[in-house]
Amino acid sequence: MDEKYVCSSCVGDKFLKGHIRKYGEKKQCSYCERNIKTISIETLADLVHEVISEEYKPYDSAFYDEDEMYSVDELISELVRPIGRTNIAEDVKCTLESNIIEEWDGENGPVNLYDDNISYVNNDADDKYVFELWRKFTRIIQQKSRFFADENIKILDSVFRDIKRYKTNTHKNIIVSAGPGEEIEILYRARIAHNEDEAKNMQRNADKELAAPPSKYARAGRMNASGIPVFYAARNCETALAEVRPPVGSLVVVGEFRIIRKIHLLDITKFSELHDTDSKFDRSEPAKKRRIIVRFLKKMYRTISMPVLPSDEERSYIPTQFIAEYLANNKGMNIDGVIFKSSQIKDAPDNKNVVLFHSSSKVAENTEDKPKYIGRVRLQDRFDVRKDCLKFVKSNVHRITCIHVFSRMEFISIFDESSDDAIRQLSVLLRDNGRSV
Ligand SMILES: [Zn+2]
Repeated sequence: MDEKYVCSSCVGDKFLKGHIRKYGEKKQCSYCERNIKTISIETLADLVHEVISEEYKPYDSAFYDEDEMYSVDELISELVRPIGRTNIAEDVKCTLESNIIEEWDGENGPVNLYDDNISYVNNDADDKYVFELWRKFTRIIQQKSRFFADENIKILDSVFRDIKRYKTNTHKNIIVSAGPGEEIEILYRARIAHNEDEAKNMQRNADKELAAPPSKYARAGRMNASGIPVFYAARNCETALAEVRPPVGSLVVVGEFRIIRKIHLLDITKFSELHDTDSKFDRSEPAKKRRIIVRFLKKMYRTISMPVLPSDEERSYIPTQFIAEYLANNKGMNIDGVIFKSSQIKDAPDNKNVVLFHSSSKVAENTEDKPKYIGRVRLQDRFDVRKDCLKFVKSNVHRITCIHVFSRMEFISIFDESSDDAIRQLSVLLRDNGRSV
């Protein structure tokens, strides 16, 4: 076969295009016939071989689904992404078949690594690595030491170091602003009341009763260790209601709070959409590391949004508590809280939880019915934006009327008892968590 050459316009992979422009020699492209920078098909075949031998493996069992399998041609096309109707993939395959003498022991004896009869699957080496890393991470804090887990801090340092630069597949940021004028300005927080008097008291003193509990009452949760108060809230009333797991017949007070200063939230729900389709041809250490970090974050996302049975909470929450504490204390990241998926309610754009870390969890004292003057001296406005992060707006009481097993919770909302639409029947779709009723 005559030596063939390929130019950057004839391949779709971005990294490969850049590589040809940077290292190519001016020659006539064998496919589009233009005289520009090219590399030989031999060189391209070497690059393809490197990727395939590191990231894929030949297969000959029925263990894999068809859509996970590639023929040699398909795999080369998938990697190189030839532009237009060319036989670049075919030429690369022929070159590989004649240049690579390695063989693979298949069911029917040894065959050339690039023989037509071989299929390839991803070897998932990175996934295995990430799985091991996550297991190590959780084992250290669950079984060894929660307080001297230096190794885990190193893992999180490398995972979160560049998080501000990460984007989702649709170019969205992972860290979002919240507060005045931002998309996230209002949060909802719910509390179960044991009787009507208690509900009324909660409504009257909502700035205290519906705020984060004082330290001595702060129970451990998904994002906080016991004794560290944080403000658990939701983006909407329904999610807040579902999150307190109210029994049938109970009253739930839901408070609406306004975020009164600009804060920054790490949106963990976006980890699942993190952009990780970097070119496989980029074999540099930073690119490999980045691919692993993205996989680690996706693993973290799946763990954080997993429902946990109340009896397993104490142990299962340790890894997320550790991560939350790390984020809350990492001054460089400057993060006030985290947005995470509700494990109680069906997915919908606004069905999300928000937790504000301790330093950003303070609700401004309600000064409306308190004296503003002593004699002629105006009392200092108690609204202190340096400390306060939230301001109570209003509250509603809801009575849980029915919970259908595995599906729906219905509740009657008592808004304003004097108006006609005082009572509204509402319902909320819960996730199929096997909840008890
Ligand atoms: Zn070309």
